[in-house]
Amino acid sequence: MHFRKRVLVTGGAGFLGSHLCERLLERGDHVICLDNYFTGTRDNIAHLLSNPYFEAIRHDITFPIYLEVDQIYNLACPASPVHYQHDPVQTTKTSVHGAINVLGLAKRLRVPVFQASTSEVYGDPAVHPQVEEYWGNVNPIGLRSCYDEGKRCAETLFFDYHRQHGLQIKVGRIFNTYGPRMHPNDGRVVSNFIVQALRGEPITIYGEGRQTRSFCYVSDLVEGFIRLMESEPGVTGPLNLGNPAEFSILELAEMVLAEVGGPSRLVFKPLPSDDPRQRQPDISRAKAVLGWEPRVQLREGLRATIAYFERALGRPAEQSL
Ligand code: NAD
Ligand code: UDP
Ligand code: UDP
Repeated sequence: MHFRKRVLVTGGAGFLGSHLCERLLERGDHVICLDNYFTGTRDNIAHLLSNPYFEAIRHDITFPIYLEVDQIYNLACPASPVHYQHDPVQTTKTSVHGAINVLGLAKRLRVPVFQASTSEVYGDPAVHPQVEEYWGNVNPIGLRSCYDEGKRCAETLFFDYHRQHGLQIKVGRIFNTYGPRMHPNDGRVVSNFIVQALRGEPITIYGEGRQTRSFCYVSDLVEGFIRLMESEPGVTGPLNLGNPAEFSILELAEMVLAEVGGPSRLVFKPLPSDDPRQRQPDISRAKAVLGWEPRVQLREGLRATIAYFERALGRPAEQSL
């Protein structure tokens, strides 16, 4: 008989979480989605609600939660600068208290727990591309610190629970990811550029647009999450998960414009403070340990994302912000 795993996904109504819930259900798991709908929406999971093996719980992960599950994916945390800087104290609490609560839950149940960490733990990196051994270059008191330091502290907690309590931890450091169900107003570069191009508005380049990012399509990333969770118990990470193909922001703007067409032109705005100049994952470890690497090229992923925004902008989105 097939053993249906009960899987908890915190932040399951968000961009990445909703895709993960979908994939786990397709695989035959029983999925419990926990979310406080701060940046996630019920729209993102509406198509899953009729599935008898899907449950949604409204809960803030900074408070304890008692459930019986076989695996935990901890994704709860606002991810875009606009959202995480909206209430920076709550952002740190979500990362730190949230980590303590999922780790306490995993410790009581003796189940594996995945942490959605981030390339932001490398800050404005002095090592390029970023390898997992690099300790990072993070400002502890800046506008991005609530997110960066919160996520760094969460990693510390994960490794201390592993060493102190023998917990099976799986830490993935996620690099910029894009795709359908990105929040249209979250200020992230891919969603901003697509929405601006679709509306025929100016494309806002911060700085000169020479800073670089490496963009991973969501389906590739979710595959990496699941492979990491299913890896040997000794595999803890941290593992970089992202697409190593690196583009300047200017190149991205030109590609979006070429795909969408329309009258938009490029405008240059000031660069936000602490904006990393370059970012590219070294994914050799994930390749070797998980046999994983992204497959979807930027142009192909952008087309799917543009098609989503064309539909989404056609009707008013339900947003909690
Ligand atoms: P998102 O904002 O769409 O999703 C986060 C979800 O967490 C939302 O549904 C939100 O409502 C929920 N949430 C926030 N605070 C909560 C709380 N206190 N209790 C319960 N739920 C809460 O963002 P995303 O892009 O899907 O990111 C998911 C995870 O991946 C985050 O932990 C983020 O830090 C990490 N990550 C994402 C990226 C990326 O490029 N998308 C990059 C690096 C790391
Ligand atoms: N916790 C939880 N669900 C559980 C078990 C624990 O939310 O099923 C919380 C608990 O409230 C505690 C945290 O996780 O605040 C850390 O748990 P741990 O057992 O490590 O610490 P302790 O309870 O000993 O402080
Ligand atoms: N960016 C930009 N125009 C925008 C939004 C973002 O030029 O409208 C830049 C931003 O300054 C950064 C890069 O794009 O250099 C990626 O920004 P995002 O907020 O998507 O992600 P992060 O900075 O967290 O990698």
